[in-house]
Formats: sequence, C-alpha cells, structure tokens
Amino acid sequence: MTLVPEPVLQAAVGWRRALHRIPGLAFDVGDTADFVAERLADLGVATYRGIGGVGVVGVLERGAGLRIALRADMDALPIDEVGRGDYGSRHPGVMHACGHDGHTAMLLGAAAALVGDPTFGGRVVFIFQPAEEPGLGARAMIEDGLFERFAVDEVYGLHNAPGLPVGAFQTRTGPIEASEHNLEIVVTGIGGHAARAHVTDDTLLASCQIVTALQSIVSRRIDPAEPAVISITEFVTDGVRNALPGRCVLRGETRSYSTSVQHTLEAELTRMVKQVGAAFGVTASFEISQSFSPTINAGPQTARACAAAGRVAGMTIEANCEPTMTSDDFGAMLEVVPGNYAYLGNGRRGEAGGEPLHCARYDFNDAALPFGVGYFVELARGAARV
Ligand SMILES: [Zn+2]
Ligand SMILES: [Zn+2]
Repeated sequence: MTLVPEPVLQAAVGWRRALHRIPGLAFDVGDTADFVAERLADLGVATYRGIGGVGVVGVLERGAGLRIALRADMDALPIDEVGRGDYGSRHPGVMHACGHDGHTAMLLGAAAALVGDPTFGGRVVFIFQPAEEPGLGARAMIEDGLFERFAVDEVYGLHNAPGLPVGAFQTRTGPIEASEHNLEIVVTGIGGHAARAHVTDDTLLASCQIVTALQSIVSRRIDPAEPAVISITEFVTDGVRNALPGRCVLRGETRSYSTSVQHTLEAELTRMVKQVGAAFGVTASFEISQSFSPTINAGPQTARACAAAGRVAGMTIEANCEPTMTSDDFGAMLEVVPGNYAYLGNGRRGEAGGEPLHCARYDFNDAALPFGVGYFVELARGAARV
C-alpha cells in the first residue's frame, strides 16, 4: 500500500494553491510552465521546454521496465471565480474551474515522491500540456515530436470528478470519452422587408427547418446501441427586427465514439442541410472539423491502472464505469500510444469539491491529492517491475 510521504503532500498542496493563483488560457500558460519547469529542475528531473508551444516534459530515468508517460494539463477557463480564499485567481476573468491546477500539482507530487524514493528504479516521462480545454494542446505536442523525442510504451491520464467521493477511482476499457467535431452551417438567400416575406427567401425559416430536421439523424440513421449527439448551439441572423435575414449562421457540434458513426453523422448532415435548404429555395453550406479525438482505453493498460489504484491506501475502484459524451484531448495521445484515462473523486455533491466542473464556484479538492499522487507513483512502480 502506498503512503505518500507527508512532506511531499504538503508541498503538493502548496504547489496546487500557487498554481491556482496564476491561471492561464489555452497556450497562454507561460507562468504555469515556468512554475512546473522550476519545480522539476529543483527535483533534479531532466526538463525540456517549449514542446508544442509551452508544453513541458520531465524525464526520470533510473532503471529498466516499461517506459511510461504520465500526463497533466495546465490550462484554465475564461470564468470569473466566485468565493475563493487566500489563493484565489490573480487573473480577473480566468480561473482553474476544471482542476488542472490539481492535475499539475499531483504530477509534480509524483515526481517528487519518485525522486525521493531510493528504491525506485524505473523510467517515467512527465508530460505537462497546454490547451486541453480548446482541444489543441495534446495534438500540438504530438506534432512537435513528443513521442519521437520521448519514446514511451504507455501513457496515462487522470481527471478529477466532482460528484464522486474523494478516493474513488473510475475507469473502463474501450471508449470512456467522446470525440468532438465542430460544425457550421451557412444559409443564404434573398432577405427583405418583414411585411413582404413572400418576396424573400426567409433564410430564418429555412434554418429552423434544418435545425429540426437534423435532429432525426441520431434517432433514424444511427444504431441505437451506438452513442451519438448532434447539438446546434448558436443561431446567428442579420439581427434586424423588421427585416428577414439574407444570411443565417448555425453552429454546433457532434459527439461520438467511433469513426464509422462519425462518418455517418457527417454524411447525413451534409445531405440533409443541402436538401432541406434546396426544399426552401435557399443555399445551405456545411463544414465540420474535429476538435477532440475520442478517448479509447486499451485493455492491458486499464488493468494496470486498476492494479495501481488498488495499491493506493483507501482507494475504491470501479473498473467498468459508464462512458460519458464529454471530451478530453488526452484522446489524441491514446491514438499514438496505448494507455488509460481515469477519473478521481473530487468530493460528493454538496460537500467540498462537489461543485461541477466549469462552474465559477468549483475548486479542486486538496484532499484528493494523496490519492492522485499515490496512483501516479504506483503506476510508475508497477511499470518498473514489468
Ligand atoms: Zn474542462
Ligand atoms: Zn479538465
């Protein structure tokens, strides 16, 4: 059973709160990257910077076994923080509302614990990535040669989960989080006076029909055993009250787990947008691009993740949790290297750490740090024994 040394845990709490004060968005996480690189250097871990923009990598090489990568994300969200104490965000309008301050502190804590353990003889690559929230950072680091420069056999990621009790660990083999694709539909035609609608194309009415019609795709074109979501989230017109618009822009997203489902969604969306538009005498164009890959856990690494969690004192393990339709750009790493993504309880609803992710009142729960640090440490020790 792992018990992380108390000085390491105290340091991790201090790091977490220091990181909470200096949140940054997407790739604008220079302060956080500086902080991470300084801590790694203090620990004597070989440190590499500027990978995929501001990504940081630490390498601890002490022996044989599998070479594993452990990943944390560093970015925050454009949300105004509510109700924080002495370690509140110093950057107005930006806060760590997804707990990436906690993820970064956990991984630094694991590095400290492994460095300080003379019995550890393994090989670990610590990855600190920017821009998880917009789904760009993992891919940026990969395209910058992350896994060529730092070849690894396996990669592991961990995300805190409000609503789950502290010490709860959940994961599953196969899809655990969905892909996300962003779509834009542009409907154009002849606009005109609201009182003379009959001589316009009324792109707004045509757009409403498109929004309604494409909701039949999931229910009538996708196997009900396969999860899929289409959501239209923005509807932008010319904005003139007494004129029918000549142009409407619709934006939204799709979520799914498999390439074949995604291909069906895209083919059906393309067909339906064009044909419903034609039925209403307007021109309708459709574009879609991927922002997140699905997060697909490999079987052997998921077994190793559960075994590692099982060696952490007080951790409870759910090895076959429900998948969700949210997305994490860690999925892009799992497309290159087999691995596992898991959840770590941040506190039950109504208790400390129970506020939802991306909420202005959310805060990473420091009580989860010993479990996260212990889990990463046990993964590294387990890999060293393989
Ligand atoms: Zn988030
Ligand atoms: Zn997150």
